Amino acid sequence: MAGGNAIRGTRVGAGPMGEAERGEAAPRQRVPYWCAQGHETQVSFASDAEVPELWDCPRCGLPAGQDQDAPPPAPHTEPYKTHLAYVRERRSDADGDALLEEALAKLRARRGA
Ligand SMILES: [Zn+2]
Repeated sequence: MAGGNAIRGTRVGAGPMGEAERGEAAPRQRVPYWCAQGHETQVSFASDAEVPELWDCPRCGLPAGQDQDAPPPAPHTEPYKTHLAYVRERRSDADGDALLEEALAKLRARRGA
C-alpha cells in the first residue's frame, strides 16, 4: 500500500519532503476568501502555515479577503472598467449627435429644394 500513498501525496502537490507526515497526521485548516465579485475560494493550508490576509481569486484575479461582507476593493481593474464604459458612452453620444445633425441637414436640404 506504500505505492498508493506515494501517488496520493504527489497528487496533492506536496513537495518531496514530508509527504508521509501530511497524509493523516498533519491537520489542515480551510480558509474561505471572497473577492469583490463575490467569488468564494476555499484555500486549505497546513495548520502551522501562516494564512495570508489576501488571496488572489482564481476566477477573476481580483484580490480576495477573509471578510465576506467587506472584500478588498479592486484598485487596478475597476477604474479601467469605468473608464472604458465612460468612453463607450461618450462615443455613442457623439455618434448619435452626428446622426442627428446629418438627418437635420438632409431635412433642411430637402425643404430648401
Ligand atoms: Zn473573483
